[in-house]
Amino acid sequence: MHTVKLCPCESKKPYSVCCEPYHNGIAAPTAEALMRSRYTAFALGLEEYLLQTWHPETRPSTLNLAEDAATKWLGLQVKNTANISEKKATVEFVARYKIAGKAERLHELSEFERIEGRWYYLVGSDPR
Ligand SMILES: [Zn+2]
Repeated sequence: MHTVKLCPCESKKPYSVCCEPYHNGIAAPTAEALMRSRYTAFALGLEEYLLQTWHPETRPSTLNLAEDAATKWLGLQVKNTANISEKKATVEFVARYKIAGKAERLHELSEFERIEGRWYYLVGSDPR
């Protein structure tokens, strides 16, 4: 038996059949799949992928994940997914992380839009 690298998005699937194909360029089929692959990209420091999957209207010009190296992503829980239309969906999630040794939670309702068959992260808000 060899050990399999489980995906950081906590799908309990190996990374190679979970988020990695999306990181390699395959279009994520659902907003939830895209959201998971973006969480994993944060965990792995895949800056380019995060920018590529950000909606052109809200995309920052750069990300400085190296400067955020103190942030350690610990886990993801998807709470709810709503498919509003062919082109709009929301995903509510809680991401856990540690910064400077302190455990934090990010609870977000993310909005996604589909453009030419690909999902993009549009904007996030606090669902509470
Ligand atoms: Zn994954």
